Amino acid sequence: MRAEQQLNLAYEHQQHLEVLRDQFLMSVSHELRTPLTEVKGYINLLLEYGNKIDAETQAAFMQSASYGCDELELIISNVLDSSRVGQEIKPLRMQELSLATTISEICEHIYLQDHLLQLELPADLLVLADRQQLRQILRNLISNACKYSPVQTLIQIGARVEDGQEPMVCISLQDAGPGIAAEDIPHLFQKFSRLQRDMIGPVRGTGLGLYISKQFVEGMGGRIWVESEGIAGKGSRFCFTLRRSLPATLMEHDRE
Ligand code: ADP
Repeated sequence: MRAEQQLNLAYEHQQHLEVLRDQFLMSVSHELRTPLTEVKGYINLLLEYGNKIDAETQAAFMQSASYGCDELELIISNVLDSSRVGQEIKPLRMQELSLATTISEICEHIYLQDHLLQLELPADLLVLADRQQLRQILRNLISNACKYSPVQTLIQIGARVEDGQEPMVCISLQDAGPGIAAEDIPHLFQKFSRLQRDMIGPVRGTGLGLYISKQFVEGMGGRIWVESEGIAGKGSRFCFTLRRSLPATLMEHDRE
């Protein structure tokens, strides 16, 4: 290839990257603006009318502002972590965690947007995971289940021990949303992947939540996937696995 052609290709490539970067910056700024406006709105209401409204309303406003902060935090974490992937800036801190406690704690604090939640988690199930990463994966999946399925529908979170040589636990989140068509499934966990059907709808997003969840799950030695028939109302079932941590007595018994 001639030098001039090579230069042209490099220039086109550079321009394409710049367009992608601008689109990304625009979508992230847009994403941040909505919860920021909400938080600001509730704080302003409290500042202006705080002494005129009852304690219950004050608490409700503060809770809404806090949900907005959580949403901002999740977006910022997804953006920062997706730019760090592969650079190992944040070392993994694997520890033994109770799945039931971790999930219940998150569900107590996350904004469920009037969805009904059902947890079916064996009380004694322990996993080996980085606490912060596990929380971020769950927050992304629960937040998606809320965003993409109608209010007043059920979100079921369950966990079971997987059959296999290595002791693994499978965590699943079933929603009653639109489902995901078979042809979309292979692209779903890629960076910036957003399904065409949502582009025209009002659902906000950056297309980073599932990408970063996949990086985290795989980094901790697990797998993540989705099962769906692509039928509206039948929803999607997001599943991921983590290493199971066996209580010392059980491991000794296994060794015998
Ligand atoms: P975001 O939600 O910010 O767009 P994600 O990476 O979390 O990004 O999800 C990627 C895409 O996958 C979403 O834009 C949406 O089209 C689709 N998706 C994710 N979760 C669900 C779900 N529970 N039901 C239906 N579609 C989903």
